[in-house]
Amino acid sequence: MDDHKNAVRNPSGRGTKRAVVVGAGIAGLAAALRMHRAGWEVVVLERAPTRRSSGYLLNLHGPGYDAAERLGLVPALAPRDIGFFTSVLVHADGREKFTVPAAVAQAAVGDRALSLFRGDLESALYDAVAEHVDIRFGTTVRAVTQEPGAVEATLSDGNRLRADLLIGADGVHSRIRDLVFGPESDYLVELNHMVGAFPLDTVPEHVAEGVGTTFLGPRRTAAVMNLGPDRSSAFFTYRSPDPAAELALGAAPALTAAFGDLGRGVAEALRQLAADPADAYFDSVGQIVIDRWSSGRVVLLGDAAWCVTVFAGYGAALALDGADRLGAALAAHGDDLTTALDTWEQSLRPEVRKRQALARKGISRFAPPTRAHVWAGDLMLRAIQLPGIRGLVQRSIQRANN
Ligand SMILES: Cc1cc2nc3c(=O)[nH]c(=O)nc-3n(C[C@H](O)[C@H](O)[C@H](O)COP(=O)(O)OP(=O)(O)OC[C@H]3O[C@@H](n4cnc5c(N)ncnc54)[C@H](O)[C@@H]3O)c2cc1C
Repeated sequence: MDDHKNAVRNPSGRGTKRAVVVGAGIAGLAAALRMHRAGWEVVVLERAPTRRSSGYLLNLHGPGYDAAERLGLVPALAPRDIGFFTSVLVHADGREKFTVPAAVAQAAVGDRALSLFRGDLESALYDAVAEHVDIRFGTTVRAVTQEPGAVEATLSDGNRLRADLLIGADGVHSRIRDLVFGPESDYLVELNHMVGAFPLDTVPEHVAEGVGTTFLGPRRTAAVMNLGPDRSSAFFTYRSPDPAAELALGAAPALTAAFGDLGRGVAEALRQLAADPADAYFDSVGQIVIDRWSSGRVVLLGDAAWCVTVFAGYGAALALDGADRLGAALAAHGDDLTTALDTWEQSLRPEVRKRQALARKGISRFAPPTRAHVWAGDLMLRAIQLPGIRGLVQRSIQRANN
């Protein structure tokens, strides 16, 4: 917000600098907001025909919260904060194992934290930019060409857009990355797990209000959250030696095959998914590892550049932080785009490396490889409720976040 000023001239002095942002997700909308505030003219291209719905739950704390604050989003996000909730760990048949009170999670991450539906974060970003930038739904990019001083995108509707910068914020399966940097297979590190997450249309009957039940078993986790109407959701992850086969099955059949034996709200959540799979997120879990995030006037941002995965719980945070830092670097280095992009990348790389490493380590928390790992995980969750141990865990979480 600090460098909001009049339109920035493009290098040839022909007028305002223009950025084309591909993808109206968290990274794309945050970049649009930051670039608009830095005086750029912004066009956002989104493949989906309309805005997406609520999606899954995500947490913003540590640097993710700081970035939301720098982008001026906290006042709009705070009323949508779901807050902390009690977790009940259950056996496969739904019997209760033990409870982790909301206060334990709150104490671990502190007050500067938000728990939001992805759609609510996207809505806050959209509301902040919609009047100021040109957002074109149902539009994607067919080709990208570069020449000294400009980048040109050929759009799916046949139009061409010339710009000073093209930002590929089109997610883990980025088309811009394919077009400019090479095929996904060169950069995707498959972690051999699947993730499914979706909002629940009706509140799960077998889960008490204000509670999330979690089943953690060998190679899989299922969680069903009853946080009231329009705020309830389900989350699943499991190990798979053949993610492509799971994707071919589709969300409802694959998740039903992997979790259909479980009790409590799981069966009900799966029924809701089968009846209305449209809003479900279902994908394999893979990290994007690429040794340079920009090429000339094209830069990748968010999951397109560095997907850290759900196991990091940090991709949205990095999308906001990356967008904010990109705007700051472009503002600081004026017409020197190469230096701006290099400086930006150097400032973000260490954090991305750290989060990708933490995610790989964290797999065994989401999908413990053996019963012994499940048992050890349970023990840890029980132990953090003991005051002395809780302090230790809090300090180690805070160290990881900062
Ligand atoms: C279940 C789950 C839980 C998570 N929990 C957390 C959490 O607690 N904390 C956290 O910080 N992160 C979390 N994450 C990660 C976070 O959601 C992602 O890292 C983040 O959404 C990435 O944002 P993005 O804008 O880069 O990509 P996306 O959200 O994938 O957005 C990409 C956008 O580009 C559009 N698009 C795609 N292709 C094209 C194209 N060819 N042309 C035009 N548009 C296109 C898409 O429609 C979409 O709108 C979680 C992820 C999952 C799956």
